[in-house]
Amino acid sequence: LNHYYQETPDNLFMQFADLAATTPNIIDLSIGDPDITTPSAIIEQAFQDAKNGHTHYTAANGSPELITAIQDYYVRNYHLSFEANQVFASVGALHGMYLALQVLINPGDEVILHDPYFSPYKEQVIAAGGIPIIIPTFEEDGFELNLTLLEQAITPQTKAIIINTPNNPTGAIFSKETLKGIATLAQKHNVYILSDEVYEAFCYRETFYPMAQFAPDHTLTFGSFSKSFAMTGWRLGYVIAPEYIIEAIGLLNENVAYSAPSISQQAGIYALTHATSLMAETKKVFEERIQLINQEVSRIPFLSMIPTKGSMYAFINISQTGLDSLTFAKKLLVEQHVLVIPGIAFGSAGENYIRIAATQPVNVLKKAFDKIALMND
Ligand code: PMP
Repeated sequence: LNHYYQETPDNLFMQFADLAATTPNIIDLSIGDPDITTPSAIIEQAFQDAKNGHTHYTAANGSPELITAIQDYYVRNYHLSFEANQVFASVGALHGMYLALQVLINPGDEVILHDPYFSPYKEQVIAAGGIPIIIPTFEEDGFELNLTLLEQAITPQTKAIIINTPNNPTGAIFSKETLKGIATLAQKHNVYILSDEVYEAFCYRETFYPMAQFAPDHTLTFGSFSKSFAMTGWRLGYVIAPEYIIEAIGLLNENVAYSAPSISQQAGIYALTHATSLMAETKKVFEERIQLINQEVSRIPFLSMIPTKGSMYAFINISQTGLDSLTFAKKLLVEQHVLVIPGIAFGSAGENYIRIAATQPVNVLKKAFDKIALMND
């Protein structure tokens, strides 16, 4: 193993998975994988297409039909047009981000992350030879990105900032003003914005704006079919970026995965063509659950949270219990058999929180909260 993997402490998610595996009858609210199955119309179409011969490698950057479907989707939904050579079909958003960081980062380049953050960002920055620079966000600000802190963190070594809105784990959706502010800073300091937009379908209280609207020449957009269409297992996402970046990503990927799975790309074409109704259905399921979680939290005296604006997560403040997030989450698992993620897994700004994924039906979520309510006994 290289130095990093010899020394890296156990991943918290893995520790919890191990503990959960030995705990009977748990309610699992940990992983952000929609419990609902991919809409059957998508499955049937992909199955038919496979039977009709879509079982081969596709063009390395994605099948032309999928690229067109992605272009059309952005025009329809956001009045944003991209050239076909600005779009790359990836094996999930995470694969797209990995490739992007590999082609952008030189050793020692700095990449700014806002804390709490989706933990793979930090690992991917390090794997690319970069240095993660962490800036906090705060519950008092609705976990909105603070532009002053962002500007202070920018140095001549800053290559990029990774933003995520709607946010995992906090449920924040950055305002238009914040996005414009990020765009201005990125343009002024010539910094790339890697914008993770995989939760675009999950907006309950605020409008979502794609970052590319504000800084097209500096933005790399990462999208995914995983959440919007409950397609985590199909492993399909995309990157939209200036042409020279997509070209480099494509060159690298020809030596890595070569192309995203053809059958998944066929599924993706169908999904995007029917995106309006399919995404509305997904959103409806999660909105009801998120509302219920917000209500349940308000009836438990030792918990609090700001209303979730978007995503499929609730980020719940547990500071009144006096326990740190790891201790709370372990106790909840061992005593009540409810599995959540301790906020510290998302960086130090997450320390007083737990993250609950709304990936169980309403009746199971209610049962989980009845158990959580017993935690202060
Ligand atoms: N970004 C964020 C913020 C996520 O929460 C996730 C999944 N948990 C991903 C990316 C991964 O997306 P994909 O399945 O498309 O790789």
